[in-house]
This record gives sequence, structure tokens and C-alpha cells, in this order.
Amino acid sequence: MDNNYLVLILIAIAIAIVVQMILNYLSSRRSITESLSERPRIRVKVTCVNGDFNYEREFIEGDFVGKIEGKCDKCGGLLIISAIYAEKPLTPIKRSEEHLKHRSKISQ
Ligand SMILES: [Zn+2]
Repeated sequence: MDNNYLVLILIAIAIAIVVQMILNYLSSRRSITESLSERPRIRVKVTCVNGDFNYEREFIEGDFVGKIEGKCDKCGGLLIISAIYAEKPLTPIKRSEEHLKHRSKISQ
């Protein structure tokens, strides 16, 4: 009789541990996908030293502010990385706001 109780308790503990492991696994998976979708993109702003040309691109490993990118197509001056910044991905709501702002700018 005492032995049966012990077995039941052990089974209950085993089930509790398995359930806990499944919950941990599910929550860790969710946090990984959330962190992936919220990971900010790193953008690099490249500017001509004469200020007549600039563009933005994705960050590439080894980029730093002041790095010479090449020569300006317009004036032959140096293109230099002037800024590196993290861009938070826009949420759907913000994106639609941005869209509206853009539309109102066109209509003005
Ligand atoms: Zn230039």
C-alpha cells in the first residue's frame, strides 16, 4: 500500500516535470521568434564630402563612421560613412500612419 502511494507520487512528479519542460520549450520558442521579428535593422548613411550626394544601405560587418566608401559619381569627391544607426522595424499601425503622412505630403 505504501509502495503504491510512492509510485503514484513519482508518476505525478514525472508528469509535472514533463509539462514544465513542454511549457519552457514553447515559451522559449515564442521568445526567439519575437526577438527575431523585433531585431532592429542596422542602416548606414553614406555622404559625399561635398554634400551633393548621399544614400543609405544595410550595415556590412566592418563598417564604421568615417570609413571611405568610394568616390562620388557627381563630383568625384570622397564618399564617407557619416552615420550608422539602428532602425526599428515599423509596426503595421505605424507603417499605415507613415503611408498616410506620405500621401498627405503628395496631395499638398
Ligand atoms: Zn559629390
